[in-house]
Parts: sequence; structure tokens; C-alpha cells
Amino acid sequence: MTEPSEPSFSTEVQPADAPGALGQAAGLLAQGHLVALPTETVYGLAADARSPDAVARIFEAKGRPADNPLIVHVDSVGMARDCVAAWPSAAEKIAEQFWPGPLSLVLPKAVTVPDIVTAGGATVAVRCPAHPVMRGVLAKCGFPLAAPSANRSNRLSPTRAEHVVDQLGGRIPLVLDGGACDLGIESTVLDLTGDTPTLLRPGMISLGQLQAVLGGVVSAKLSAGIGPLKSPGLLPRHYSPRAKLVVCGDLTAALGQAGEATHVIARKSSPNAWPSERWHRLPDDPDGFARELYDTLHRCDRLGAETILVQALPSAPDWAALHDRLNRAAGT
Ligand code: AMP
Ligand code: MG
Repeated sequence: MTEPSEPSFSTEVQPADAPGALGQAAGLLAQGHLVALPTETVYGLAADARSPDAVARIFEAKGRPADNPLIVHVDSVGMARDCVAAWPSAAEKIAEQFWPGPLSLVLPKAVTVPDIVTAGGATVAVRCPAHPVMRGVLAKCGFPLAAPSANRSNRLSPTRAEHVVDQLGGRIPLVLDGGACDLGIESTVLDLTGDTPTLLRPGMISLGQLQAVLGGVVSAKLSAGIGPLKSPGLLPRHYSPRAKLVVCGDLTAALGQAGEATHVIARKSSPNAWPSERWHRLPDDPDGFARELYDTLHRCDRLGAETILVQALPSAPDWAALHDRLNRAAGT
């Protein structure tokens, strides 16, 4: 585990639409510094992907284990192809359908991608993001950006600039504030290096959507246990709030046993007796729920929650990525 560095910056938070903000970000990145900025999934912590020294700063600022690889963000298929050693027809089809968007492709890495980016591995994850701020910065840079989520390692991903400041304030020079992220959970990760396309991390682009484009795609859960762990995003406990999170099939029964510092996240209104400041109602559709989930978990942590009870989600396939994140947040 890389020990987090001591705070040594006064972190500037710039509205992303302020004059010169994108240029300032690109200037810092070109000099090897880190910039946190919004993407459509969550806020990213970007560095020049070509520079081992710049990328090392990501691992230091986050306290990220060196064996957890980063996703390289590109502004085009052309830039993606510069980062990989092979661009199979499956990659072309997927990129045509889902890029720019919340989908990362794992492919054999080009020799030009520094080993630190891929945690020493022979594969690299590439994604072409859709968010105008990330795209604007990529266009000004003209080089790919390694960017994991802009949180301390093992903590919740940020979906607002203030979440980044809470966790990385003093450790990075600049945060571009582009408001709340549209999607709210991390990208779908699809591995195209094996015989069968394999879903390593579910996301808002679903297994079904990938299967519709490629035919057979398997979920990594089915191949778990065969060989080494393919993706650190598969670790059982990840994406966790500080509070203990419990998914409740029977919320009413759980409420009966709940203590003082218990908060609830549900898709319905609170019973009359329950204090409203400890009840967080989220939308009853996967897109709306994803958009607000992390912000709500951050808020529960800030309010001093010790336990967060979450009403169990529907079993329909379009909730799959949210099941995944809640199960990991709960460590189950
Ligand atoms: P983050 O950007 O913080 O959500 O983390 C990136 C995640 O993408 C990692 O934790 C992995 O799950 C996945 N990832 C990145 N690069 C690779 C790779 N080369 N092979 C498999 N998974 C990867
Ligand atoms: Mg992350």
C-alpha cells in the first residue's frame, strides 16, 4: 500500500466554465501536476498518462495500492489506438456504439504506456469520456490522461467537487467544479483480451447492451476463481462509506432494531415516527438512484451516521450495477 503523502498544496477550486479554467488545468497537467475534474460517471483525478512521475503522484495523493491499475482517458478512437497494441473488431464495434460514454475497454497495452499506469500488467483500460469539461481538457492537452476516481483509496467515489475537496484538499493543486455528475457511478469495464468478452465491472451500460452488440459476453463473476484476480474493482469491499452499510430485505423489521446514529436510504417515504433528517429518499428508477446514491452516502458520513440501512433494490437487470456497488459498499 502506498502511504498517502502529506498535504502540501493550497487546493484551488475553479468553476469549470470560468474563463481560462480548462487552459489552466491543461497547463498544470502538461507540467506533470494532478487536476481533479468531472466526468459523466464520477470526478476523476487526472495526470499525463505518458509520464511515470505524474502518474506516481496519483498513487501518492490517493494512497492507492500500486497493484490497482488506472483507466486511461482519451478523446478519440485514434488516441485510444495509440495506447493499445491491438484494436480488435469487437473494440471498434463497442466504441462505435458507446463512445464517448461510460465504458472502459481492457486491451493489450502499447509499449508507450508506462508500467505504473497498468500496475505492471500487460493490459490497459481505455475510455473516451463524454463530459464536456473532461473533453475540453483532453482537447487542450492533446495527450491521454490517466484518471481514477478522485477519492482517497478505498473510500467513496466523488460525484461533486466538494466530495473531492473533502478527501484530497491540500493534496492537489486544482479541482475543476462542473457540478454534480450525471451518471453517478463508475464506468462499465469490459475486458477484450481473452477468448470471450468479459464484464469486469458492471456499470450503467449493461451486460444486455454489450451482448446486443457483441453476441456472447460473460460476467467476470462467472469466471471468478479461475486464475488471478483480473480487476481490483472486483474486490468484495470497495466503494464504501465510513458508516457500516446494510442492505435490508425487510426494512420495517430493521427499523424496529435501529439505534440513534442510523440513517436510511429508501425509495419510499419514511414512517411517521422516523426522524426525517435520518431518512434519505432516492428516486425509484436506476438512473435517478445512481445519480444520487454516492452524494447521499457522502452526506450520511458527514452527518455522523454509524449505520446506513438501504432498502433492497429491485431484481430487474437494469439495477444490476447498483446491486454490485451496494454489495461492495456493504462488503458482502
Ligand atoms: P477507478 O478509476 O478508481 O474506478 O479504478 C479503475 C478500475 O478499472 C480498477 O480498479 C480496475 O477495476 C479497472 N481497471 C483498470 N485497468 C485495468 C486493467 N488493465 N485490467 C483490468 N481492470 C482494470
Ligand atoms: Mg475508484
